[in-house]
Amino acid sequence: MEVKVWRADVEERVVTNEPVPADWEQLGGRGLIARILLDEIPATCDPLGPFNKLIFAPGLLVGHAVSSCDRISIGGKSPLTGGVKESNAGGSTGLKLAHLGIKALIMEGAPTEDRWWILHLSANGGRYEPADDLVGLGVYQTAQRLLDRYGPKIGIALIGPGGEMRLLAAGVLNLDKDREPSRISARGGLGAVMGAKRLKAIVIDSSGGEKPPLADPELFKAAQKYYTKELMDHPQTASYANYGTAAMTRMSDGFGGIPTRNYSSGTFEGVEKISGEALRDLLLARGGASNPTHACMTGCTIRCSNIFGGEKGNKIVSPVEYETIGMIGANLGIDDLDAIARLNWELNDLGLDSIEIGAALGVAAEAGLMEFGDAKRAIELITEIRQGTALGRVLGSGAAVAGRVLGVRRVPVAKGQAMAGYDPRAIKGTGVTYATSPQGADHTAGLTIRAKVNHLDPEGQMEISRISQIKMAGYDTLGVCLFGGFGFAKAPGSIRDLLKGRYGWDVGDDVLQELGRETLKLERTFNQAAGFGPEDDRLPEWMTIEPLPPHNSVFDVPREDLDRVFDWT
Ligand code: SF4
Repeated sequence: MEVKVWRADVEERVVTNEPVPADWEQLGGRGLIARILLDEIPATCDPLGPFNKLIFAPGLLVGHAVSSCDRISIGGKSPLTGGVKESNAGGSTGLKLAHLGIKALIMEGAPTEDRWWILHLSANGGRYEPADDLVGLGVYQTAQRLLDRYGPKIGIALIGPGGEMRLLAAGVLNLDKDREPSRISARGGLGAVMGAKRLKAIVIDSSGGEKPPLADPELFKAAQKYYTKELMDHPQTASYANYGTAAMTRMSDGFGGIPTRNYSSGTFEGVEKISGEALRDLLLARGGASNPTHACMTGCTIRCSNIFGGEKGNKIVSPVEYETIGMIGANLGIDDLDAIARLNWELNDLGLDSIEIGAALGVAAEAGLMEFGDAKRAIELITEIRQGTALGRVLGSGAAVAGRVLGVRRVPVAKGQAMAGYDPRAIKGTGVTYATSPQGADHTAGLTIRAKVNHLDPEGQMEISRISQIKMAGYDTLGVCLFGGFGFAKAPGSIRDLLKGRYGWDVGDDVLQELGRETLKLERTFNQAAGFGPEDDRLPEWMTIEPLPPHNSVFDVPREDLDRVFDWT
């Protein structure tokens, strides 16, 4: 099956495909999205208007179920930040698109009619089917109806009511390998872009498709074996299998960096009740549908995901991740895993980013709209979002909008996007990433918490952020889950050999860094054309003057360092 670029014109409702342009060939995922943005999208366009495009691009390694290497990147110009946006997720979307030979799926134009559509993709091409009966439904009900309609083997990427309302915190949900709409491309408001295209769902039927061809199957298989062995032997693999990302709860608290009550403290007195250890114990004790270890995609040997079940053995939500525990738990003063799981389900069903909404609710609490620790009131505020009330729309538009409307100064955002579960005054390298990433505040763009440094010392943080940002941009271009990085770090040459085996490219040992540097350069070029300058690569002023307990530290990495992060671009 020939690999092609597929285009879906949502105005004319046609789907076409075309050969891959030569300078797109050696990019995938995040890097390809940046290239397409630069080539095809006016940088100053309205993100919710006809000139923005919604792009799905599997990473370069996607298609062969190499452990944790089948992520889908979704991108476009962000309605939240006004700049470049790529948000990747696990699940089955990437694998299924790759099996249809889709290098990139580009949705363009804007419908003139107020009707909703399903974009159906298969080996026979693409078509549009009416989705009016799905309007207003949450993602769980929508996914079930689509599975009933098209059969259990399809992939689905879909939006919830948040995306339909074009809320700036709306993401795109992807089915996991067990057909649950649980893997969200959460960040930057891409669900709103999909809503602006009037697409409720993309259904991918890959039957009749095939795995992408291999230039050197033996080399590819040998590299896959080497990487997988090193990944499985890595101690972090066992830790993530046992505790998932929730293992970060104690770690972040231990560094004094867990966001607590709207970023007013870096330690949370209820941390033991919401830690990874507490989560695992609870799920093991409950049994039934509960499972502390679960794979989001076929072939993942780490299995950092989980299924949170109720007392009666029923499934509540999958997965409960650290970012949600940090932002919906500690950041709202909530120390009850059942309440966090329920809030998590509500946000998933609405198709909203739990980091952005957690930060917005923290701002709302500071404005007096809820008491910290009051999970019942948090549910009520989320219900306002579901109902589309004026307050709900403010909260659904994220922390920056909520702060402006509610008159709150302590708003944890960079480039208009909420910070994740690591306070940059205590973990300063991650603060450099939040400030300078072309993506806006995003821990996955370059988390530094595992670096063996004094995280409170401003010296040297620029360098560790730079290394991490380059590496993560490289992994996002390959389609590699960030935890797959544990294996690649221990299996030198395996990325080179996987690319050689797959494509026949003669790449060097530093191909990961090369891809990362190229991707960041493209992204910064787009942002500059959109009007971003050095003053946008900053954290909010209050974080530079308001000390964070318990270390009473401020964010004091010098501006000169922030301006040097990308000095090769
Ligand atoms: S490690 Fe976790 S997020 Fe990564 S592919 Fe596996 S289950 Fe998915």
